[in-house]
Amino acid sequence: MSFSHAHLLGIEPLAPSEITTVLDLADQYVDLNRRPEKHAEALQGLTQINMFFEASTRTQASFEIAGQRLGADVMNMAMQASSLKKGETLIDTAMTLNAMHPDLLVVRHPHSGAVDLLAQKVNCAVLNAGDGRHEHPTQALLDALTIRRAKGRLHRLNIAICGDIAHSRVARSNILLLGKMENRVRLIGPPTLMPAGIRDFGVEVFDDMAEGLRGADVVMMLRLQRERMDGGFIPSEREYYFRYGLDAEKLAFAAPEAIVMHPGPMNRGVEIDGELADDINRSVIQEQVEMGVAVRMAAMDLLARNLRAPAEGVMV
Ligand code: ASP
Repeated sequence: MSFSHAHLLGIEPLAPSEITTVLDLADQYVDLNRRPEKHAEALQGLTQINMFFEASTRTQASFEIAGQRLGADVMNMAMQASSLKKGETLIDTAMTLNAMHPDLLVVRHPHSGAVDLLAQKVNCAVLNAGDGRHEHPTQALLDALTIRRAKGRLHRLNIAICGDIAHSRVARSNILLLGKMENRVRLIGPPTLMPAGIRDFGVEVFDDMAEGLRGADVVMMLRLQRERMDGGFIPSEREYYFRYGLDAEKLAFAAPEAIVMHPGPMNRGVEIDGELADDINRSVIQEQVEMGVAVRMAAMDLLARNLRAPAEGVMV
């Protein structure tokens, strides 16, 4: 098995076997992370810079912990307070950092495509930690690992992704990954929150939870991304919760053993019932956070192996 990429910019360029490579290595890091002594040396001597141009809680913390556990020197740039405010362009900032010889650059940016652009300008490995509505590859990989561990496989599952699909890079990366691994993906949400042309991605689309959830093995809820809405996409949050909020009653339409997922941050009482989110028999939301650290360790480990031996791609 191999993983022959210089960057992790999205799920789109990954082959199914490469996705499996990341997940298999992440499984090993889950074991390491559960031990009292959590240090490994895969990134020893390397410098990791986290550049978050958009607010983040779990993703940034997760990348930071992942880098530290693997022995990297990790630096967080406070981008809001940086020279961007003084008018410097993204590329100028990137070039300045590049001159400090980082090995891994973890970037989140509000504009789709900004991280790809940056990757073309620097000579280190770039990981996309979310760019606009485009992709959030480590989120899809951590979701995949959570599903694989809960269900024992990552193929031929019925997976429902519900809510604000139109504004979600999480949905996009998940649709790509779950499709590549040959699952049946259904999208459920109001037509106003469904992107045009989404059926071309090989998904089924529903605007009714009862219909869409029927027999689903996995129910993935998404946050209403108000910060990306510039008009009235929903009548009211109460109405939205009534029709699309996941509670025990709606979950009963899914398969009896269906798991509930959410990438966070959650709006309790808007897209998901608080009690259901905390129900450890159904919800794997905390496992998703745990898998996040392991998947990021695996992704950075694989990219670092390619940095050290660029020609062949790594054999795992
Ligand atoms: N944390 C995820 C993201 O950055 C999901 C969300 O914000 O709703 O895309």
